[in-house]
This record gives sequence, C-alpha cells and structure tokens, in this order.
Amino acid sequence: MRSHPDIKKILLDENTILNRIDKLAEQINDDYTDIENIMIVSILKGAFMFTSDLLKRITIPHIVDFMALSTYGAESRASGEVRVIMDLRHPVQNQHVLIVEDIFDSGLTLQFLERILQSRNVASLKTCVLTQKEGKKNPEIKIDYLGFTIPDVWVVGYGLDYADKHRTLPYIAELKPEVYH
Ligand code: 5GP
Ligand code: MG
Repeated sequence: MRSHPDIKKILLDENTILNRIDKLAEQINDDYTDIENIMIVSILKGAFMFTSDLLKRITIPHIVDFMALSTYGAESRASGEVRVIMDLRHPVQNQHVLIVEDIFDSGLTLQFLERILQSRNVASLKTCVLTQKEGKKNPEIKIDYLGFTIPDVWVVGYGLDYADKHRTLPYIAELKPEVYH
C-alpha cells in the first residue's frame, strides 16, 4: 500500500471505506425510491473521492453539482465564517438536495451551507458525511447518512488534505502531529 513518511497511522483502509459506502448507497437508494430526481451537492475539494465512489453506487436518478467552500483560518473559524469560493451551476429551488461532505468537525461548514440552500427554497435537504470527529456535535445539524466516527485528530487522504497534500491517498490516515504543529 502506498504510504508516506508524514503518515502516523491508517485509520480507514480502502476496503473498509468502500464497504461502508456500499451500505450508505443502499440506504440512500432505498430512502429516495419515491423521488423523481435527486440533486447531489458535493463539497470541494475534500469530498471529491467520496462523491465519486458513492455515486457509482447510486441507482436512482440524480444529477451532481459542486460547490467549493473556503477552509477557515484560525480566526474565521472562531467567528464561524465560511466563504463560497465556487457556487453551484444549477438552481436548487424545489430540488431534493443531498449534501455530500468529507468531515464533520465543528459542524459550522454544514450549518452555513444548509442556511444557504434553505434560503434558495429546496424541496428537501439531507446530509451524507463520510466522517465525524469523535465527541463533536452541533445541535443545529443532523447527519442523515454517516460513514464513520473517527478520533479527533488531523486526517488526510481519500480527498482530505493538509496544505493541499496527501489528498489522493486511497485511505484515510492520521497525520503525524509534528507535521502540522
Ligand atoms: P467544520 O466546519 O465541521 O468544523 O469542518 C469541516 C471542514 O473542515 C471539512 O469540510 C474539512 O474540509 C475541514 N476539516 C476538519 N477536520 C479535518 C481534518 O482532520 N482533516 C482535513 N483534511 N480537513 C478537515
Ligand atoms: Mg471541506
């Protein structure tokens, strides 16, 4: 398996991730059977691999669109500020929207996104998140489909980066703390 000296430990290997995605897709296919079309909103860049593997397994009619949100700096995080770097191409009014996101940490990103999408009058809004950091909750946000709970450490791989590195590793791994401290 492709490894890297910055990696401390693999938390979720590729098979584990894909097996869980099989289950998530099954659940989504079941839950949306009566809906004509769903609109997948994938959050760049982090969710790109997850989105791709998930959507290969979605058998109900859907379209996919992308939105890029800023990663906050230390200060903007405290204020809960999130910025839209690239907006959706398609209108979402009256659409059944499923957000696909990489990580739920403080939940501020999803909270921000939900507020935007609700203001555009979607027909319904659900969230599918690959990982949630242990002990992190946000009473404002409900995750409808969750892949894994992971330790509260900085993780990379499978779409996730540190300073734009390690995004294309096929697994999710803990970064050595000395790399990001
Ligand atoms: P939240 O707004 O829930 O605090 O954070 C969510 C966003 O922060 C995620 O979309 C992700 O981009 C980033 N993030 C949070 N924790 C990690 C992590 O451990 N690794 C990486 N690569 N990104 C993270
Ligand atoms: Mg993100």
